[in-house]
Amino acid sequence: MSTSRDATAYDLDELRTAVLSERGGEVDESIPQLAEADEDFCAIALALPDGTVHASEQARVRFSVQSAVKPFLFALALVDTDGAAMDRVGIEPTGEAFDAIKLESGTGRPPNPMVNAGALLTASLVHGDDVAARKERITAGLSAFAGRALEVDSDIARDEHLLGDRNHALAHLMRAEGTLGLTADDAVDAYAHACAMLVDAEALAVMGATLALGGRNPVTGEQVVPAGVARDVVSVMATCGVYDGSGRWMRAVGVPAKSSVSGAIVLSAPGRLGAAVVSPPLDEQGTSVRGHIVSTRLSDDLGLHSFASP
Ligand code: GLN
Repeated sequence: MSTSRDATAYDLDELRTAVLSERGGEVDESIPQLAEADEDFCAIALALPDGTVHASEQARVRFSVQSAVKPFLFALALVDTDGAAMDRVGIEPTGEAFDAIKLESGTGRPPNPMVNAGALLTASLVHGDDVAARKERITAGLSAFAGRALEVDSDIARDEHLLGDRNHALAHLMRAEGTLGLTADDAVDAYAHACAMLVDAEALAVMGATLALGGRNPVTGEQVVPAGVARDVVSVMATCGVYDGSGRWMRAVGVPAKSSVSGAIVLSAPGRLGAAVVSPPLDEQGTSVRGHIVSTRLSDDLGLHSFASP
């Protein structure tokens, strides 16, 4: 094991090769495109404050971002509503699955922006006079986080929109509670569009770095969101980002992060770096098995754990 704390000297290919022998986990089967994912796909990338990106093999292979988009949707919603989005969604962890059909008791708000109910709401709060304009704004906002123009996989977006029965159920429930302003179908449409955004590990690491570094993209220098928004989003990633696995994650890795069904994990280590690890087989909480192992190793070797004494 490397003892280097210098991210640029870290051998990410060695780490990738070592973790490929791990065979645990199951690939998500919610839509055909995810079910067909290559179980041996694995990529790791680190994005550093000086704008350099350090990556393993396969870090330019694209995949749909899925739930790793949720922190960025929350950030865009906060900006577009001048902070009012904070009152429209809770920020407490649920201890339940990402797609649990459950809202906050008493308020009818989604429990937090990292579960599906919350992301359906934050996607609906991104500005746009109609569905097409909202989707354009989501694409542009996510591209600013990534520092390059991102594209949507329209087949994935269509299938998620059509086949996402639990998301439709959640959106209807929020309509019934009066907490969702858009129609249920428009909210699912916007959210499916965001989940179907194609990224690679390098782009996702830069997105994570932008949140970790006060909202400023280290590659382009653009202030994508205000520092206070980035701080709020990273705080909620820390408590809710890995769903009902958030406690185990925080103990082992100690870095705010967001998991997703494509096997991607985006990490934001405040003031230090952004990282992305992707490998499709998932554990019971929907976290990439290899991603968890790699993130733990990176945290240990680079001294990233938030609660470890120096
Ligand atoms: N598109 C997926 C869904 O809404 C994303 C879920 C995830 O990545 N955990 O079901």
